[in-house]
Amino acid sequence: MKTIGLIGGMSWESTVTYYQMINEAVKEKLGGLHSAKILLYSVDFDEIEKCQSAGDWEKSADILAQAAENLEKAGADFIVICTNTMHKIAPQIQKRISIPIVHIADATAEKLKEQKISKVALLGTKYTMTQDFYKDKLVAAGIEVVIPEANDIETVNDVIYNELCLGKISQISKQNYLHIIEGLAEKGAQGVILGCTEIGLLIKQEDTMLPVFDTTEIHAKKAADLSME
Ligand code: GLU
Repeated sequence: MKTIGLIGGMSWESTVTYYQMINEAVKEKLGGLHSAKILLYSVDFDEIEKCQSAGDWEKSADILAQAAENLEKAGADFIVICTNTMHKIAPQIQKRISIPIVHIADATAEKLKEQKISKVALLGTKYTMTQDFYKDKLVAAGIEVVIPEANDIETVNDVIYNELCLGKISQISKQNYLHIIEGLAEKGAQGVILGCTEIGLLIKQEDTMLPVFDTTEIHAKKAADLSME
């Protein structure tokens, strides 16, 4: 079995889910007492978020690249960055290590293609929804991406940083998210990407008719599969 190198803590609320889902996938496939070989480098999210809001992506790239280098030295076979947003700097991290990064948007695009989705709604942080680093991967896979209106982008983003990353689950926010998802379905989205690793803590498949693509689950399962190849 290969060793998975997780870069987590962004936020730790969703890193917990990664740890659990990877182990569940290994248990399901191998049975008995089997569990995943995991190295976890968990960063201080306050430092990372300050870099994001200051637009200092180079500094955050350096922090995460150091984490990746340490995971490689410790024996990780591949790297899993446990956040969608920080994949913005995945290319800079990749340059500093010789083991591969399993890209969350590639894993998601693969899943969407399997389900024959050609137009999808994307929810995530404002960086993930409005910038190109994430959407480009989907577009390159032939998938059209729709994002919420400007004020809804703010709502989705605020709930992530002010609630979900702090472990707060609010029923009002859930209703707001579901309302935004409905609007995107009306614009022709055939599915919705929960493109932030904490959104799965708020929205589940049973909450909506629209097929849900939870990036945490997709990424964790992909990592588990690769570790057992
Ligand atoms: N975990 C979130 C994501 O998947 C947001 C936190 C972050 O900015 O990294 O994008």
